[in-house]
Amino acid sequence: LVRQAVSRRTTARATNGVPTTVGLELGVPTVHRTVVDFGNLDHAATTPALTAVSEAVDKVQRRYGSVHRGAGYTSRLTTSWFEQARDEVGSFVGARPDDEVVFTRNTTDSLRLLAHALPRRTSVLVFESAHHAALLPWPSRRTTRLPVPASAHDAVSLLDQALERLGDTGPRLVVLTGACNVTGDIWPVAELAEVARRHGARTVLDAAQLAPHRVVDIAALGVDWVAFSGHKIYAPYGAGALVGRRDWLDQAAPYLPAGGATHTVSHRHIRWQQGPARHEGGTPNAVGAIALATACATIAANRDAVEAHEAELLGLLRAGLAATPGVHVHHVLGVSPDSVGVATFTVDGYAPSLVSQVLADEHGLAVRDGRFCAHLLCETLFDGDGTAVRASIGLATTREHVQRLVSGVRRLVEQGP
Ligand code: PLP
Repeated sequence: LVRQAVSRRTTARATNGVPTTVGLELGVPTVHRTVVDFGNLDHAATTPALTAVSEAVDKVQRRYGSVHRGAGYTSRLTTSWFEQARDEVGSFVGARPDDEVVFTRNTTDSLRLLAHALPRRTSVLVFESAHHAALLPWPSRRTTRLPVPASAHDAVSLLDQALERLGDTGPRLVVLTGACNVTGDIWPVAELAEVARRHGARTVLDAAQLAPHRVVDIAALGVDWVAFSGHKIYAPYGAGALVGRRDWLDQAAPYLPAGGATHTVSHRHIRWQQGPARHEGGTPNAVGAIALATACATIAANRDAVEAHEAELLGLLRAGLAATPGVHVHHVLGVSPDSVGVATFTVDGYAPSLVSQVLADEHGLAVRDGRFCAHLLCETLFDGDGTAVRASIGLATTREHVQRLVSGVRRLVEQGP
């Protein structure tokens, strides 16, 4: 029964979603379709849920029971779905047999959990270009911030030199970014992880922006942990994962010391669980975990189509912006060899906040402006107040949205500031 229910969950077809060019459906609310075709170019912030995900959520909501706490049918069913979700999320990032999958709220929470689990006196190295979620959770006295590199090659040598200078000072953790949330540039993760390994350091990969767009394989990349968020991969808010080596996690104090994390409690002694339960205190977000796993399985099964869709639209977007006088598209790693579907730009004479407001109010397009929770990087990349406009492509973006954005920016430039 459980197996049948789960297989219906992943194969159920949508009936009233919005079709995308890659054949997947999004459960976008009807109002978005009937009033105006709002163009979503803000996927790097949050993605709409896939219809397959909404259906999985709906189905679970109709019959769920307590997780790991009950003997009744719905409890056993929900527990089984929850644990199957753990396996699916693990295989989505190529977890090794010994790796642990801990469900969290999001990438921020996953990285915070790892920071909490660091052995005493761990030194941390992180590039200043990291998102604040990856830059800030570490103990400040033992953290080395590496400058924003000028290229992928520069990043590798900056890390090599920093680890050389640091020497073998005990446990060391290098915090890596998969794809830059400001510019979309894909980092040379495997090379950086190899450098870290050579120096005896461990690595955690912030895959919040990479996992929705490219295969992330822990073993192939050679990293120790991966963190990512459901709401950036077409699942709802509130579910994310930390996947990777279990030793530091099993030795750490429970992240949320509460029911579920305890094995036995007596007047004299508390024995905590080992494994993911140790850090998943309280009733888990089982619906979120199942939604996340459904999104992962659906994206993995359609990876080529998703990548082709994004590559086509990104080419169109970048070419259109590059051909518009006074518009500058920015990168962090020089001329990036590869990038997820992001074009971040500034327009001579216009504040980025005004550009995004015009795109929203006059052209019905959602983009984002600001410093993108990466203030140190934005200070380095952008003149003036350190802000820019970010257009990010995903399954809800169409060719027409991209054309509308390019012509909207062009019209603004032609009008003059
Ligand atoms: N890391 C990167 C690269 C991000 O882009 C984001 C969110 O934008 C985060 C971490 C934090 O993700 P969340 O807000 O889901 O915790």
